[in-house]
Amino acid sequence: TTLAPSIQALVERRARVLGPAYRLFYETPLHPVRGEGVWLYDAEGRPHLDAYNNVASVGHCHPHVVEAIARQAGVLNTHTRYLHEGVLDYAERLLATMPGELAHAMFTCTGSEANDLAMRIARAHTKAEGLIVTRFAYHGVTASIAEASPSLGKFVQLGDAVRTVPAPDSYRIAPGELGRAFANGVRAAIADLKEHGMRPAALMVDTVFSSDGIFTDPPGFMAEAVEAVREAGGLFIADEVQPGLGRTGDAFWGFQRHGVVPDIVTMGKPLGAGHPLAGLAVRPGVLAAFGRECRYFNTFGGNPVSMAAGMAVLDVVEREGLMAHAQRVGSYLRAQIAKLAERHSLIGDVRGAGLFVGVELVTDRRTRTPATAETARIVNGLRERQVLLSATGEHASTLKIRPPLVFTEAHADLLAETLGQVLAGL
Ligand code: PMP
Repeated sequence: TTLAPSIQALVERRARVLGPAYRLFYETPLHPVRGEGVWLYDAEGRPHLDAYNNVASVGHCHPHVVEAIARQAGVLNTHTRYLHEGVLDYAERLLATMPGELAHAMFTCTGSEANDLAMRIARAHTKAEGLIVTRFAYHGVTASIAEASPSLGKFVQLGDAVRTVPAPDSYRIAPGELGRAFANGVRAAIADLKEHGMRPAALMVDTVFSSDGIFTDPPGFMAEAVEAVREAGGLFIADEVQPGLGRTGDAFWGFQRHGVVPDIVTMGKPLGAGHPLAGLAVRPGVLAAFGRECRYFNTFGGNPVSMAAGMAVLDVVEREGLMAHAQRVGSYLRAQIAKLAERHSLIGDVRGAGLFVGVELVTDRRTRTPATAETARIVNGLRERQVLLSATGEHASTLKIRPPLVFTEAHADLLAETLGQVLAGL
């Protein structure tokens, strides 16, 4: 592809200044300069339908959030070793969205730090090292968590104490067998740790398996795996960085779909609507050992502006009924895409919960062979038609649709219609 000169100049400047480690989305990188609701506007003023952004979960530049951040920034913002009601008010409100067992909250700036802290807490509590994750998981960028993020592929070596388990692939495993199959993977990982003289500290999973390919059904399938890790003395850490904050529609947090109460819940991305706000919720009994043995200080984590942002986001989710909205619009969107599947055999499976939707593409429905190249062409084709989404899964063959929660049926129609055009033009 030849890029417009202004885009080419930015791409080159980026490489020159930021160096070689970064990657951009799309063959034609997007240059957004303004956001509003579900729309991202590029420098030419062209609107792009954002069907991917869960950071802007309550919609880009929601006025209530913008106002709350600006107001607090004008009053006080500082590090977090002073008394301040903001962190207490937000912690209480966030914890109130969870089962009562999760009674302490701690704050960080990124999901990676939250997962890193969760691992330290789990290891302090269990006096064990092992960490079990899914085969194509992503949990973050710190050294210890990158080592537990196999989706980074050849760019990182898994840690000695890390074991991976096959994802609960609901497209290839029957619903009645899925929970058992997933739990058997966890049991095998525990056995392998044992063979190497280790015990599991935790099973850490993204509760919608977003980087493994998005697997949400049948509800409850995770319960047996959680039981298996607990029987071996390990904890269950639910990584809610992607599924959390009402997105799955049926519940506020992804783990609730499975009827389990985690020992630690980590959160990030959508909490601050773009303001860096992340953290974890934990059972007091699980935090006790870490509290005795360590001290924790995170300069920015829990600062007054972040807390104001988080409060305002929760206001919007509640006031605008975004969880029920996600449930309704997500079902509608899946139905619209399922209709496309009647005409396009490339669509193998349409799945997900609420506004977390996966569309797995296959070259052959009988063999369910991943259509990796076609998926990339569709993602880029949609981008050319100003609809933004991406691909996920081990073979990058599942369209990942995860829009701001203010996405409506009309937006779903536009997405499905455009997807239909791109599929027809392949
Ligand atoms: N966990 C999951 C499931 C994620 O998707 C991500 C980010 N993509 C992280 C953790 C890390 O979050 P952050 O980028 O804020 O460090």
